[in-house]
Amino acid sequence: MQANEALKEFDTDDLQHADNSFLHPWENVKTIGENKRTVVTRSEGVYLYDSDGNRLLDGPAGMWCVNVGHGRKEIADVISEQAMQMPYYSPWSLTNAPASILSERIAKLAPGDLNHVFFTTCGSTAVDSALRFAMFYNNSLGRTEKKHIICRNDGYHGSTYLGASVSGKTRDKNLLDFETNTVHHIPSPNPYRRPEGMSVAEFRDAKVADLENKILELGADKVAVFIAEPILASGGVIVPPPGYHKACLEVCHKYDVLYISDEVVTAFGRLGHFFASETVFDIVPDMITMAKGLTSGYIPMGGVLISDRLLKQLGDSAEEYGYFSNGFTYSGHPIASVAALENIDIMQREGLMEHVQEVGPYMQERLRELIDIPIVGDVRGMGLMSCVECVISQESKDPLTMDYEIGNRVDKHCQELGLIVRPIINMCVMSPPLIITKAQIDDMVGILRAGIERAMDDVRREGLWAG
Ligand code: PLP
Repeated sequence: MQANEALKEFDTDDLQHADNSFLHPWENVKTIGENKRTVVTRSEGVYLYDSDGNRLLDGPAGMWCVNVGHGRKEIADVISEQAMQMPYYSPWSLTNAPASILSERIAKLAPGDLNHVFFTTCGSTAVDSALRFAMFYNNSLGRTEKKHIICRNDGYHGSTYLGASVSGKTRDKNLLDFETNTVHHIPSPNPYRRPEGMSVAEFRDAKVADLENKILELGADKVAVFIAEPILASGGVIVPPPGYHKACLEVCHKYDVLYISDEVVTAFGRLGHFFASETVFDIVPDMITMAKGLTSGYIPMGGVLISDRLLKQLGDSAEEYGYFSNGFTYSGHPIASVAALENIDIMQREGLMEHVQEVGPYMQERLRELIDIPIVGDVRGMGLMSCVECVISQESKDPLTMDYEIGNRVDKHCQELGLIVRPIINMCVMSPPLIITKAQIDDMVGILRAGIERAMDDVRREGLWAG
């Protein structure tokens, strides 16, 4: 019997029991053996189906990744055909057609002179590779002191040692160790949390000044790179003030600091464009990291776009040794590459960028209606990514956290009502597949409203919230 056929023999209990051998991301080691996670068995369009037959709207598109939606036979077919034709060969000295053509295709979609792609296995390895490239670049130019990395609180850049070190979500800085000698965090550019009485424009200038001051404090000859997500996704869909990125890039140019735009979430359509850096934020960075929507999650793949300017500088200056000694067995994997090519074809053929430009503002507008719920403090976002932040009161803005993490409660209620949300402490993040329709957005918002109201009733009933 084929492996996938054999799986049909297991019922929900068997699967949940077996799952206790699977250490999941962000696993709580204290509850190993007690978890009963919902088992997703099938998916189609914007819907998931669990092992008990319940239909659930996929609010987070998996993990911001199933951009073209579930059940795309075209992608499954090219994956299968490529596996039969040639599943894998080493990318070190030979190449393969899907990866070569994909690199050229991505370069054409990318802004400015970002014309070379270093393929990786996921977003974390893309971030790690981009940061390592910045080190390689400066070392090759003989600037061996220019090593320091500036990043931001509330940023998320992955789970490799360096990717996690440049991330800035406080709760994730728990019992793990991080690179601290060369990594420096500056404050989050979250306009919702700006000081009382400060305008958004003043706040932007202050956050840009944080970057410049940090460079000056460390010494420009010591700072290699600034890494920033255009929208801080896992930090709670934080959209920095208008003009922030452009001004930060100018500061970087002024002090010869490289700018990495981490587009692992925003690239491939989430904001209605293949890349958001230039089209939405008016910047052409030195490097762009990508993953997730590149293959719409059908198979893992990531990459870093590197500018011609940097490569040319190295080509001209690297003396005896020009090797960037960084790479993965699966860099430019032919099966992942062909899936990415088909994924991009679907996006272009179906006009998904234009679709997001139309339904994105509609989703934002509908979600903003939730601001009338007393525990909702902020509803923010752009395109098809948004966040509803719950607070104790709209006046105090204090997050509804501690022993009653509202995000999990909302998620539980929403799942009962047929919607998956991504809970992050006191926040609920929505980033559905790009194919979502206005009617499905209406369903999503309706369920989310009911879920938040039920969670609010719970904390009120339990005496945890006195609103
Ligand atoms: N960068 C950003 C902005 C992300 O949101 C993520 C993951 O969510 C990563 C990097 C890491 O990607 P991955 O989980 O594929 O390693």
